[in-house]
Amino acid sequence: AGEILKKPSWIRVKAASHNSRFDEIKQILREHRLHTVCEEASCPNIGECFGRGTATFMIMGDKCTRRCPFCDVGHGRPDRLDPDEPANLARTIAALKLSYVVITSVDRDDLRDGGAAHFVDCIRAVREQSPATRIEVLVPDFRGRLDRALEILEAAPPDVMNHNLETVPRLYREARPGSDYAHSLKLLAEFGRRVPGVPTKSGLMVGLGETDDEILQTMRDLRAHGVGMLTIGQYLAPSNSHLPVRRYVHPDTFEMFGREAAAMGFSHAAVGALVRSSYHADQQAHAAGVA
Ligand code: SF4
Ligand code: SF4
Repeated sequence: AGEILKKPSWIRVKAASHNSRFDEIKQILREHRLHTVCEEASCPNIGECFGRGTATFMIMGDKCTRRCPFCDVGHGRPDRLDPDEPANLARTIAALKLSYVVITSVDRDDLRDGGAAHFVDCIRAVREQSPATRIEVLVPDFRGRLDRALEILEAAPPDVMNHNLETVPRLYREARPGSDYAHSLKLLAEFGRRVPGVPTKSGLMVGLGETDDEILQTMRDLRAHGVGMLTIGQYLAPSNSHLPVRRYVHPDTFEMFGREAAAMGFSHAAVGALVRSSYHADQQAHAAGVA
């Protein structure tokens, strides 16, 4: 405990490939003053994702009402919702000619609907301007307002509904204060029941102190709640004041998780050290028959 583990050789950040598409996307993002999670989180996959026409956008500001100690997003009093954000986002995505976008947000426990209506406004605006662009949303848990939020989302559903469990239930108290494992599973199951044509997806991090068996059990829980798409990646501590990395999972173990995921019936699982929730989201959607 307290010791900082040495990064193993397989955690090597890929050099961003600076193809022309990548530079073009960066330039358009600056012009539209929009920020992507890809850039803010210095995601190791940025060259690849931008090159393929995929990006992840964060809506509803950059201050979260929760404080998960693994997460690098700021917290505090959230910003007022920007009524121009859906239109601005839609214009930017159209200018970027993206084929697949992920729209995500901080947790907005301050809003009566948790931000569900703003998500729907963004989905509608993007669809109007870019009808061919596939939209995945990565939503917060809407705790305390789940029915209201689901009813709103049902009216203009995304192409893929993603909500990350992040970790195993035993570690929720430490890693996800304010969140609840059973509630998050319920969100995924309920959405799937209400909108059966839209696949649900979830993501886990390894390295927070969980065991392999706990990961496998969590995967089974996801399947039992109808979730068909999965991501598992290595947790990397954003700084020394975040939760420490308790283990680096070996590539062989990731391979085992991938095999087990297929055996459990996930339609697609992106599993590996550098996998992030939105990594290869476009390919995943392909596998699920969406894109
Ligand atoms: Fe962006 Fe996600 Fe790709 Fe990282 S994996 S560059 S956050 S789309
Ligand atoms: Fe980060 Fe999400 Fe936790 Fe907020 S709820 S601190 S954005 S992981």
